[in-house]
Amino acid sequence: MIHRRLTAVRIAMTKIRLQAFLVTEMAHVRYLTGFSGSNGLCVITPEKQFFVTDRRYKSQAPQEVDGFTIIIAKQNLFPLITEKSLIPKQARTGFESEYVSMADLKSLKKLLPGRHFAPTTKILETVTALKDDGEIALIRYAAKITDKVFKKILALIRPGIRECDIAAEISYWHRKYGAECDAFDPIVASGERGALPHARASDKIIRRGEMVVLDFGCRYCGYHSDLTRTIAVGKPSAEMKKIYKIVVEAQKKAIDTVRHGVEAWLVDAVARKHIRLAGYGRYFIHSLGHGLGIHVHEPLRLSALSTAILQTGNVVTIEPGIYIPEIGGVRIEDDIVVREDNCDVLTTSPKELIIV
Ligand code: ZN
Ligand code: ZN
Repeated sequence: MIHRRLTAVRIAMTKIRLQAFLVTEMAHVRYLTGFSGSNGLCVITPEKQFFVTDRRYKSQAPQEVDGFTIIIAKQNLFPLITEKSLIPKQARTGFESEYVSMADLKSLKKLLPGRHFAPTTKILETVTALKDDGEIALIRYAAKITDKVFKKILALIRPGIRECDIAAEISYWHRKYGAECDAFDPIVASGERGALPHARASDKIIRRGEMVVLDFGCRYCGYHSDLTRTIAVGKPSAEMKKIYKIVVEAQKKAIDTVRHGVEAWLVDAVARKHIRLAGYGRYFIHSLGHGLGIHVHEPLRLSALSTAILQTGNVVTIEPGIYIPEIGGVRIEDDIVVREDNCDVLTTSPKELIIV
């Protein structure tokens, strides 16, 4: 597995004429090496691959890291690249420009004179966009944990409870069911706060008659889930019920459009058209979905501006929403895997309107 990933990276390196590649983003380091700690980097050259970490991980690194020469640093990691001559002199060296600070780049240039540093943004982003069966199984399991948490918290939501109490329960049950952590701070947005697509849980008390947007996910073995359901606490208004139905239909139409070879913008357009024809076009204010995997938001986007073409093995979210200021919002989100002729939906929580 690790070997296949390294090969893919080396092919990408050749394409942009890199003689060395420095990987510092920790999810990418984990993807390549298996290392789950919080400090480490990889140096990849056409023939060799090194993993550098610090003394705290002296025993963990050999247990987890597969296929890389492990080097343990006393303190800072960068000086080891020089001391152990990991990057050949004059090598054109790629670095992950979105994750390396100006200060780090400055010290790298000082430590490694003579190398030409080339900023890269697409190597691991491209390689990780296509998931193999093992990775899909991990995302499916993360989704299963999150589905279980949804069921659990349904029993806890009632008038009088605060949004932040529900968020705390979500985090607790994710851990309890085996997740490493939340994928992001849970969103619990009730009543008119539901009109804010990214409202964090607040100390607002959930009242009878409100709808609540619940958007949460977890990380399991380095892979993420991301689920949104909107539920009603007591009987919702006729308008909120109507919006709910439109969002469910838009999401279904989008999911039915997904298969290998379809343009990402088209899937977004299908959902958007449904919402627009229902009269709520101006209230769908974000893109339809995003890639999901070792990061909770990966670069693959389902949006009007996306130029991506969906491929078998891409994992993305499908999450249309309608947000009406001062009234409320509805969003429904599932995680799906693109297949040759259709897609697999990994999250299985019910989508008929739940009234608690
Ligand atoms: Zn989400
Ligand atoms: Zn999402």
